[in-house]
Amino acid sequence: MSTGEEGPSLISEDEIKNEITRVMKALYERGLVSALGGNVSARVPGASEFWITPSGVFKGAVNVDDLVKVDLDGNVVEGVLRPSTETPFHAAIYKVRPDVNAVIHAHNPVTLGLALAGVNLKPISVEAIMTLRKVEVVPFAFPGTDQLAKLVADAALKGARAIILMNHGVVGMGANLLEAEAVVETLEEVATAQFVAMVLGKEPPVIPEKDVELYMKLYFQG
Ligand SMILES: [Zn+2]
Repeated sequence: MSTGEEGPSLISEDEIKNEITRVMKALYERGLVSALGGNVSARVPGASEFWITPSGVFKGAVNVDDLVKVDLDGNVVEGVLRPSTETPFHAAIYKVRPDVNAVIHAHNPVTLGLALAGVNLKPISVEAIMTLRKVEVVPFAFPGTDQLAKLVADAALKGARAIILMNHGVVGMGANLLEAEAVVETLEEVATAQFVAMVLGKEPPVIPEKDVELYMKLYFQG
């Protein structure tokens, strides 16, 4: 594998803040978050504080001055607005996953719809294997609560890159914002393709187990 795919190792706080606002706007334009739904956070790799989108601000036009910096206990360190109500689960993920430097929460409608119907996402595409890798589902817990943060942290500890929050939405994680963004978008792509096959009355064929194992061996081991 070539190096450098994880992006620059030195990223400034300003770059992180700009990237958060870009991702938030992109998610809104793709219909993966609504006017007041969804939240995005990121940190300088390994930092014990992170930047997060504010609560109660239109998600299609969040700008860098709206962002709030919080510590891993959710205390505000910098910024004038209130941090996202989902700050507890963002913090919980950073606490248990040192490899994660970006967390995105969105309301992917098709992904959520399949989960509500009890349908698991399957390895129907290369991206479903390479980008999603491991998807966990957690039962409903009220938004913003410590209970939800605990459920999310437990799922993150299992090595998940994507978590489906039942009756609510999704969480994507990555080493940087681009990775987390790809996870959230791929969830919806895979869910939509699977949904189309099912609507047409077909059980979608999946990539054979031996090929899934080969991909994992080639890209994720050694
Ligand atoms: Zn939400």
